[in-house]
Amino acid sequence: MIARRRLSVQGQVQGVGFRPFVFVLAEEMGLTGFVLNSAQGAEIEIEGRAPDLDAFVSKLVAELPPPGHVASIETEEIPSQGGTGFSIGYSAEEGPKSAVVLPDLAPCAACLRELTDPADRRFGYPFINCTHCGPRYSIIRQLPYDRPYTTMAPFEMCPDCRAEYTDPRDRRFHAQPVACPVCGPRLEFVKAGEAHVLGPEALERAAQALEQGLILALMGVGGFHLMVRADDDVAVRRLRDRKRREAKPLAVMVRDADSARAYAEWSEVEFAALTSPAAPIVIARSRGGLAPSIAPGNPNVGLMLPSSPLHHLLMQRLDFPVVATSGNLSDEPICIENGEARVRLAGVADAFLMHDRKIVRPIDDSVCRQLGEDVAILRRARGYAPTPFPCAEAQPGLAAFGPHMKGSVAVCGSGKIVVGQHVGDLDTVSARHRLKEEVDDLLKLQETNLTRAAHDLHPDYASTLLAHAAGVPTFAVQHHVAHAAALGAERGIADPWLAVVWDGTGLGTDGTIWGGEFFLMEGKTARRVGHLRPFRLVGGDAAARQGFRAALGVLHELGLSAKLDHPQASAVANVLKGESRAIQTTSAGRLFDAVSSLRAGIHESRFEGEAAMHWEFLAAESTAEPYPITLSSQGTKPVLDWGPMIAALLAQDESLSQASWRFHAALASGIVQVARALGVERVGLTGGCFQNQLLARLACQELRGAGFTPFEHREIPPNDGGIAFGQAVVISKGITLVDD
Ligand code: ZN
Ligand code: ZN
Ligand code: FE
Repeated sequence: MIARRRLSVQGQVQGVGFRPFVFVLAEEMGLTGFVLNSAQGAEIEIEGRAPDLDAFVSKLVAELPPPGHVASIETEEIPSQGGTGFSIGYSAEEGPKSAVVLPDLAPCAACLRELTDPADRRFGYPFINCTHCGPRYSIIRQLPYDRPYTTMAPFEMCPDCRAEYTDPRDRRFHAQPVACPVCGPRLEFVKAGEAHVLGPEALERAAQALEQGLILALMGVGGFHLMVRADDDVAVRRLRDRKRREAKPLAVMVRDADSARAYAEWSEVEFAALTSPAAPIVIARSRGGLAPSIAPGNPNVGLMLPSSPLHHLLMQRLDFPVVATSGNLSDEPICIENGEARVRLAGVADAFLMHDRKIVRPIDDSVCRQLGEDVAILRRARGYAPTPFPCAEAQPGLAAFGPHMKGSVAVCGSGKIVVGQHVGDLDTVSARHRLKEEVDDLLKLQETNLTRAAHDLHPDYASTLLAHAAGVPTFAVQHHVAHAAALGAERGIADPWLAVVWDGTGLGTDGTIWGGEFFLMEGKTARRVGHLRPFRLVGGDAAARQGFRAALGVLHELGLSAKLDHPQASAVANVLKGESRAIQTTSAGRLFDAVSSLRAGIHESRFEGEAAMHWEFLAAESTAEPYPITLSSQGTKPVLDWGPMIAALLAQDESLSQASWRFHAALASGIVQVARALGVERVGLTGGCFQNQLLARLACQELRGAGFTPFEHREIPPNDGGIAFGQAVVISKGITLVDD
């Protein structure tokens, strides 16, 4: 009995070699019909004996190679047509362009095999790729994703490449960036005072430069990397000086998985993230062996594998890992263009390894870290961005402009929210310009115009000002409600649930600085049902960098005193006594700063979160009881009172490692106390504080132990990198904040 079925396939099925895969499978099984791209994904009509059709569908789901992924298949029985052969439908049927823009992916196993096979025509060719891997988002000027609309347009395919490109049985069928040494991009090595070197020799020269301890600017996937050998502390410090990056940890690229194991300890989930096609930086426990100035005082190291064939080829020539940090000066967007890089990075890099395949937009490396139970993406960029997240209520034309620090944007399409890449802090004119470009770019790729703009409640954030300048109706979203909504939407948490939102700073609706908030999430309401005990904070923005200000505020609130060795300490203490210019805050992040200052003497942070990170790293596993932390109430609202905890922490003479442990454990127990008081089974943890691995792990453990179900972020950053998505969710779903 011959049957015919129409299959509507959804998931990651465009630009990943899905159609050729279906073609080969159907041919192998002797089935007839066709496959084509649709607005939702792909459509297949398949004809043959019913049991064969069943087998076809199971193989389709099970054997599709990554990054392809079938999320769902809708099946419809239709009359058989008795045709012959199987065919692939082309652009004419390809529907609205808004289908999918894929991220840039590291070389697949098949391409890596060819890259290292002397018999292959692409042996050692740095621009090898196929439908399963290679550059996408970084080379797309506009949709549809077709070679003329990418930066591969100037490269005319040679007959061999064209044959692969047009053969449905080939892995490179419609692989838009397909190229080879005959027809594709080529390398160029530039060093001051020396003749330019073109072609394969450029790679050897770049490897030599790194061997000599020089700083190399390498044109990667989403822009320039600055590289220097990671086993040479003098060289690493030279890079820090020139890049004006004082202390923030630097990422390190290792040649392969074995090397990654040599330099860090990995949990299973961490290693899976490291070796995934996105090839992100993964923060793991360091095993030493690298230059100390890579991450001073930090027990962890951020490692990544080569993210492009060029990186692979370079790393194969080196017997040491290399620092790989974004090719910019601190706080500026990453360089993507050869001439621009040579000017802007002239004072930083000793040599340049570049190529002539242009990059359309800068894309940073992504960063992942295991938090409580799973790995979360802390910085969404290369390999992940842009990503559509389903949201039934989303309407095209809404753009969310995000926060001020860790800026990123989100743009709505019909039924989805497309989350853009990490742009970074918006303190510079160029970063603000980049954020606006990112909004325009994502709107263009969605083929929609801006109709509404969401922004943070804070009136002075650069993103808020950009939203207001856009000339469309604007909507303010409270910062912590955005965090909570982002987590709820990402994980699909069923109502009602308790959102624990702990971070550094966000303007509250009462004009104070929030940051230690509890919201009951139900329907369209985010009800502020509790918070940390407030304290006074002097100094506005300076308070985030200078933890001693929080320390003094905490002492003032408790009527305690302690000597703080900072030149401005007494001036700040005097302001607190007068209470005129001190604002109230419930910030958990500032509470971390306070204890790091009070107990560990870290009064200033050289980069965001340094003081709190230092405090986290001090902790050593202990059986000691948590410090006391109590639930009191302010009106009807529970207030988590850290007063007894701070008093105990100051009074008791114990090791820093135990004090830090007991502090983290106290906060975890405080979360459980609030959850118990509210009697809600599901508890979500979000906000920058939950990048703290110890806090996240203890909170998850304690919640599970007490019968609650904890939820953490995975895809969306818990830090302010998740705010734009959250803003888009809040406005799309019409969530309102109630603070009564
Ligand atoms: Zn490949
Ligand atoms: Zn070619
Ligand atoms: Fe935040």
